[in-house]
Amino acid sequence: MISFSLEGQRALVTGANTGIGQAIAVGLAGAGAEVIAAGRSSCAETVAMTGGRELRLDFADPMAARDVFEAERIDILVNNAGIIRRADAVEFTEEDWDAVMDVNLKALFFTCQAFGRAALARGTGGRIVNIASLLSFQGGIRVPSYTAAKHGVAGITKLLANEWAGRGINVNAIAPGYIETNNTEALRADEARNRAILERIPAGRWGKADDIAGAAVFLASPAAAYVHGAILNVDGGWLAR
Ligand code: NAP
Repeated sequence: MISFSLEGQRALVTGANTGIGQAIAVGLAGAGAEVIAAGRSSCAETVAMTGGRELRLDFADPMAARDVFEAERIDILVNNAGIIRRADAVEFTEEDWDAVMDVNLKALFFTCQAFGRAALARGTGGRIVNIASLLSFQGGIRVPSYTAAKHGVAGITKLLANEWAGRGINVNAIAPGYIETNNTEALRADEARNRAILERIPAGRWGKADDIAGAAVFLASPAAAYVHGAILNVDGGWLAR
């Protein structure tokens, strides 16, 4: 029997208070995992949906998770927290560069490192699911630090898979397409951009946060035991076009 069950597994999801992170937390809990909803804001709503517990983690300090995985065994890490800053390349500020690189790439790598150190020391193995983007493959418009960071997420996912695949840790990523969350509010509010995006999505609709949850459950489950270094597009067909 192929198993998608996460019974007996403890999962930590970053940025779990809303959007894609919340949907993934609910999906993992539905598959049987005990979920730790990590956020800089209260995750009370998510905890009410998953029956798990919350942990305050603010990646304004990219090393914020350094001690989290020593304290208890955590089997599944979902690095979902992320921000975006938009401005023309000629106007783009150092502050907007550093803020996005810190949360989306530096914090992601050092959270993976802390998880990997603890899992390797315990010899228990583990699963990492990083949240990449279409902008791990494409250039995007007016989002230079986001594009650089998400290309970096794809690269770091493959690097870590190479180092840890033989040592019991699966490292993979999901590249969501255009999903209706806070992150894309400005795009949906811009009628022309919204129309242009919609017209290019083969599925003919924006994605919902729930559309991402199944891929996360799969990558965290025994069914994905031999999947390493993959970036799974969940994009309504966008990249196929
Ligand atoms: P969202 O609703 O804005 O969620 C972002 C999450 O990251 C929130 O929980 C946010 O917490 C958290 N976060 C931001 N800064 C943080 C920090 N310093 N420390 C800890 N947590 C922090 O957007 P989303 O669309 O669900 O984004 C989730 C992930 O998916 C991001 O990595 C994003 O890049 C990626 N993604 C989204 C799309 C899309 O179309 N929506 C597409 C591709 C990839 P607060 O609520 O407290 O700010």
